[in-house]
Amino acid sequence: MTGSHLAENQETGASLAGSAVLTGTPVVPGVGYGPVIRPGGRPDVPVDDTVLDEQARGPELEKFREATSVVAGRLRGRAELATGAASEVLSANAAMAQDRGWLKAAEKHIAAGASATSATNAATEQFVTMFTKLGGLMAERVTDLRDVRDRVVAQILGSPEPGVPAPTVPSILLADDLAPADTAGLDPNFVVGLATSLGGPTSHTAIIARQLGIPCVVAVSGLDDVAEGTPVVVDGIAGSIVLEPDPARATQAVSDARAELDRVSQWAGPGSTSDGHLVDILANVQDGAGARAARLTAAEGIGLFRTELCFLDRDVEPTAEEQAGIYSEVLDAFAGRKVVVRTLDAGSDKPLRFANHADEANPALGIRGIRIAAQNRGILLRQLDGIAAAATATGSTPWVMAPMIATAAEAEAFADDVRARGLKPGVMIEIPAAALMAEHILEHVDFLSIGTNDLAQYTMAADRMSPQLADLTDPWQPAVIALVAHTAKAGAAAGKPVGVCGEAAADPLLACVLVGLGVTSLSAASAAVAHVGAKLSSVTLDQCRAAADAALKTDSSTAARAAVTALLA
Ligand code: PEP
Ligand code: MG
Repeated sequence: MTGSHLAENQETGASLAGSAVLTGTPVVPGVGYGPVIRPGGRPDVPVDDTVLDEQARGPELEKFREATSVVAGRLRGRAELATGAASEVLSANAAMAQDRGWLKAAEKHIAAGASATSATNAATEQFVTMFTKLGGLMAERVTDLRDVRDRVVAQILGSPEPGVPAPTVPSILLADDLAPADTAGLDPNFVVGLATSLGGPTSHTAIIARQLGIPCVVAVSGLDDVAEGTPVVVDGIAGSIVLEPDPARATQAVSDARAELDRVSQWAGPGSTSDGHLVDILANVQDGAGARAARLTAAEGIGLFRTELCFLDRDVEPTAEEQAGIYSEVLDAFAGRKVVVRTLDAGSDKPLRFANHADEANPALGIRGIRIAAQNRGILLRQLDGIAAAATATGSTPWVMAPMIATAAEAEAFADDVRARGLKPGVMIEIPAAALMAEHILEHVDFLSIGTNDLAQYTMAADRMSPQLADLTDPWQPAVIALVAHTAKAGAAAGKPVGVCGEAAADPLLACVLVGLGVTSLSAASAAVAHVGAKLSSVTLDQCRAAADAALKTDSSTAARAAVTALLA
């Protein structure tokens, strides 16, 4: 919520107080406003275990073959009408409906007595399991496969083709995930925003939404509860969905975002102020797919690879070899560039089953991040082995940092383990104690990266997950800015880089303040990269310094924002 333009600028217009805000991963920048529509009409895939008589199997086989060829033909036809990525995706799906392996698997089920619909489903699930195991890009094709299944089943049942409604007023499409055939057919004049509960930055929803220029947010939790017809704003920069906003402010936000996008899309890097002070502009990612999506932006590297997000669904710790494969995908996407890998930040709001978290009364203040290594050093060492193996395999030299460092001793122990593997050690500054002790920590590590999300949470003693406390966890809080200032100063004195990878770095105005404080790199979600880069390129280093001084003199987040807006906006 803190990153939303709408929520952010409450002092500048009619307040959106009272509007609920859902958050997710922003994948296509821009702001859309309108009533919610949802896709409907996915067929219920009938579950039946009946074994058909021999003589019934031939006609079922015919039904299946005919349905697959009708569906493939329709998708091919649409591919011819579409262009670019949309066309490629539709062609790929047409090919999927005629895939030899999948057809054979279904035909085998029919030969064993399954109905055409059950066989379609069973063959699809076989392939879904296989794709999911393969992970990465293949796993993201699962939605495509299930879409082909639904189309074939609907055709067999004689039901209407599944898909999204064609709205007559500009609307916002909400869904669990969207099939390529649905997304590719969207009219950006009438579908002005998209949000899904599932999907990643390179899911087809994201690829096609990007091509069509439809603001899009994926992996949004709580979307199911938003009723059709509810007016919402989709903010594809902040990654937020604002429910029932003030209509005048929402309309204003849409036109502001359009003007801003036109300007920002010209930015191609490298990160610099208008007078040539260089600042690395980097991307935050969570896997190989995210890194490949970040490569499509002007990001100069990866400033935060949140490795724990690769393993949230695992019961068993992945081996160092498996981890090496996953990390290599990210290193490959940015070969020869800076990549900062963070070791597992498990615990609190991101528990990992294999890290065996004990029940704790206050998990955010408990055994999370680097503290897990104190209980189970093996987890950390095997991960460092995996990162080192990925570095060797890809010929890269990643920087490696630990989350949730509180003391210089923790930083020293971590740095020893990292250096022993020929890697470059750093730590995150997320705990006020670490910010205050930055000089001492810097005696042991080569760089610092400030996590303003947790730094705000722990400085203000306010749960970052609590919407009621969002004012306190706002990174514009002068106390948080003061801790960033102290850390950056310590970095400058030691001649070592100090970056920011929390959400503060994704706010273009605050990013300029961070640069004024002496921060040397800014790492943000891919969708925010150009916005931050473009803003920074429009101001001088002296202006950034003046903005930083002004923010440090205020006594509230509202006053800090207002002071900087007056100087830089
Ligand atoms: C942070 O705390 O600012 C940070 C970047 O780490 P995470 O959001 O993953 O806790
Ligand atoms: Mg953190």
